[in-house]
Amino acid sequence: GNWEVKARKSARPRSKSGFSVLVTGAAGFVGTHVSIALKRRGDGVVGLDNFNNYYDTGLKNARKALLGRAGVYVIEADINDAVLLRNLFETVHFTHVMHLAAQAGVRYAMQNPNSYIHSNVNGFVSLLEACKNATLQPSIVWASSSSVYGLNSKVPFSEKDRTDQPASLYAATKKAGEEIAHTYNHIYGLSITGLRFFTVYGPWGRPDMAYFFFTKDILKGKEIKIFEGADHATVARDFTYVDDVVNGCLAALDTAKKSTGNGGKKKGAAQFRIYNLGNTSPVPVTKLVDILEKLLKVKAKKKMLPMPRNGDVLYTHANISLAREELGYRPTTDLETGLKKFVKWYLRYYGSKKKSAW
Ligand code: NAD
Repeated sequence: GNWEVKARKSARPRSKSGFSVLVTGAAGFVGTHVSIALKRRGDGVVGLDNFNNYYDTGLKNARKALLGRAGVYVIEADINDAVLLRNLFETVHFTHVMHLAAQAGVRYAMQNPNSYIHSNVNGFVSLLEACKNATLQPSIVWASSSSVYGLNSKVPFSEKDRTDQPASLYAATKKAGEEIAHTYNHIYGLSITGLRFFTVYGPWGRPDMAYFFFTKDILKGKEIKIFEGADHATVARDFTYVDDVVNGCLAALDTAKKSTGNGGKKKGAAQFRIYNLGNTSPVPVTKLVDILEKLLKVKAKKKMLPMPRNGDVLYTHANISLAREELGYRPTTDLETGLKKFVKWYLRYYGSKKKSAW
């Protein structure tokens, strides 16, 4: 059909040395930024996204329009669609897969636990099967999460720390993903790099994340709930600006070894890596609100509440030595600078009536 022609064209890199990358979750927040960055530097990109309604599909469609103008074609499909994936891998020889499709968020698990299993476990396996069966096995880079550190209280988190105490179903499925990835690496010789993202924020961000809905509610004059730990313990996050995360993703693709298909037993074996992609400077959520008030020039109506036991952890803080050493990863954006860019985007996006103009 028609999608094959479009996918082939979209996947074509500008030069012979360029990559052909399948980006899953391309209409998502990070997926949009990564796809555009890859396309801009000359790689070929095909996006895939199921446009589910976990959050505002209007926003996903606007991102798709943005991608379209950048020359990135996005296929609307679920990663569980094995037939579609097989056809796609026969149509395009992807050198790399950047796997970002997932059921994100920790609180939604109370409403829809199965969506986490569907996308983060079954969907991941379905994608790995397609990669394994492809004539040319791609190298895979995918998004795990800082949430795998769970109830571990030793900070900063480093990759060698324990990850056996997930605090949410979301965390459990990301941890499961890491184990599943390891299996596909050593059994089938797929080269797989997992990136543990730490609270990514920025323009085109996710409406279910605090910085986003705080902005919305502060502007509306609506009360915002700020959670604190027992005895007023500070809740803080290692907020990481999306451009820094994108640079980490591109570096992970660039350093990824080829999949070997030999079960990792031969010389030049496929690699299995895991890296923290954080900012290494946790900021209390109260400070986040202070910055937003300053940028929006509106006083927030704040209510402090004890943190519900719904899967959130008190504190996140990345040790990024490994990513710095092996990927050359260097985050450069502090929270205030990054939020300034987010707020500018937010006011423009929600201030303009024609969303399709983006
Ligand atoms: P997002 O929800 O904006 O993007 C995910 C995209 O995947 C969405 O557009 C969704 O429609 C799509 N998707 C979901 N299930 C799918 C399926 N079964 N088939 C096809 N498409 C599907 O989230 P994001 O913030 O861009 O996150 C990207 C990745 O990074 C996710 O894996 C997420 O778990 C991970 N991550 C994000 C953060 C963060 O702070 N944003 C932190 C840690 C990890």
